[in-house]
Amino acid sequence: MRHLYLHVPFCPTICPYCDFHVVRRGPGLVERYLERLEAEAAELYARRPGALDTLYLGGGTPSYLRDRELARLFTALPWPLAPDAEVTLEANPGTLNPARLEHLRSLGVNRISIGVQSFQDPVLARLGRAHKGRGALRTVEEALAAGFRVSLDLILGLPGQDAAADLETAAALGVGHVSAYTLQVEPGTPFALAGLEPDPDHEAEAFELARAVLGRAGLARYEVSNFARPGEEARHNLAYWRMAEWGGLGPAASAHFFTPEGPALAERLTNPPLPRWAAGEPPAREAIGPLEHAKEALMLGLRLREGVEPTALEARTGLPLASALAPVLEERQAQGLVRLEGGRLRPSDRGLDRLHGVVLALWEALERAYSEI
Ligand code: SF4
Repeated sequence: MRHLYLHVPFCPTICPYCDFHVVRRGPGLVERYLERLEAEAAELYARRPGALDTLYLGGGTPSYLRDRELARLFTALPWPLAPDAEVTLEANPGTLNPARLEHLRSLGVNRISIGVQSFQDPVLARLGRAHKGRGALRTVEEALAAGFRVSLDLILGLPGQDAAADLETAAALGVGHVSAYTLQVEPGTPFALAGLEPDPDHEAEAFELARAVLGRAGLARYEVSNFARPGEEARHNLAYWRMAEWGGLGPAASAHFFTPEGPALAERLTNPPLPRWAAGEPPAREAIGPLEHAKEALMLGLRLREGVEPTALEARTGLPLASALAPVLEERQAQGLVRLEGGRLRPSDRGLDRLHGVVLALWEALERAYSEI
């Protein structure tokens, strides 16, 4: 296991569009969380020792933990880090300052992913965010000045937002990585209950703009929603998109492991939410067979500009992918959505914007072929 995700579910306020597993701090809750985390890390390490290439602390807002809590959390992780390991911590503006950054560096963190969303105060207010644009700017500048690799998250296509201004600001700051999303209104969130609908035309324009503005600043689109300077790509997330193995710690965290000794190809483990996880309930296990693995690998791999290698996937799953997919691929290549070169199937820019349709067609072809085997 070379990649580990650790979920820290605590947030100071809960944003109305959020569908992550988040809670507010309550009396004794962080203490219970850390105790269970120590036990869970020791159990997982006994089964999956070895050095980590990437460690990702996500949430929630991991930077909302106090210095001594973060120190205890890092002490709970027995895995050594590979010499050039990427250690990312998600942070929100307002939860960092130079002294805290110094503390994070001493713990081994070398990359900070900052949930900026927008630099415009009216937009932030509408999103229900606790920070202001100036605070976001200051946090990004301080993290860069302290020598961290910095990624920032932006939400694009929001009503009343000057997306170009947000993108220009992000590019001018000199960060190495930007994740640009459109607002996903998930069922059950307050935004969904208020009937807020994202406008698809607005969204497509926003992504076109992101490609142009960030591209001029040297940040290339290497994944549907992610832009990076060369060498600044998120190595941890690449492990997900490439369907590598990773472990998961913390409430609602998931893990993915290959199972060479079992009847299935791989398994996904998903931890229960905080109260049940803290009480020691084990993760739910889901076996992943060859067809499901192939479908997921295509869906995730084609999010990347580097694409997927069908022959490697064929070898891993034992499925006749090349012949099953050939007619659909021919059609999508003719439409300029994908191309097969050097043994890799890669999406074009247009293909990245129309990925949903491409993936559905590939899945249907796979299911047809699989039902005939
Ligand atoms: S800060 Fe992020 S994780 Fe926390 S509630 Fe807001 S969107 Fe969710």
